Amino acid sequence: MFSGKTEELIRRIRRAQIANQRVMIFKPVIDNRYSKTEIVSHDRNSIISTPVENAMLILEMVDNAEVVGIDEAQFFDKALVGVVRTLANKGLRVIVAGLDMDFQGKPFGVMPDLLANAEFITKVHAICQVCGNVANFSYRLDKANDEQVLVGEKDNYEPRCRRCFNLGEEATPPSNKSPKQQLN
Ligand code: ZN
Repeated sequence: MFSGKTEELIRRIRRAQIANQRVMIFKPVIDNRYSKTEIVSHDRNSIISTPVENAMLILEMVDNAEVVGIDEAQFFDKALVGVVRTLANKGLRVIVAGLDMDFQGKPFGVMPDLLANAEFITKVHAICQVCGNVANFSYRLDKANDEQVLVGEKDNYEPRCRRCFNLGEEATPPSNKSPKQQLN
């Protein structure tokens, strides 16, 4: 969320395409915020992907691909772990992007199992909207809703650092710095 996960996935998939590798990209159907047929990142830098109803469909649909990208993995069902292991065991390169923690700061869905199975992990971070530090928490602004899955962007969440996430409504910006000044 705002951290560049999808942009990083797209960057890696593009590099695979440049290397003439056959790529396929999947995302869960739940993520239909902007488009049903593309991964659309926040800067509108987009790439074609296939929405699937469940993780097992990925196994059925992967057709002589060498590289498989999966976006918004936190919204997939538990079967995704076995699917990704099967693809990797066949020698495919699998690149998964997902949110590691939910709005309560708890591990999100299948992400912990995926992290445990991965050869390489890159954590990309957003910027805390309160203090400008590195943020890896998603703070939900709509406190009335406690569903884990609430698909949405700027209206519902803001990235926060650990401190400001834990302070909740009490979090206030440093008095003499705006977040933007602190970044420079
Ligand atoms: Zn902060």
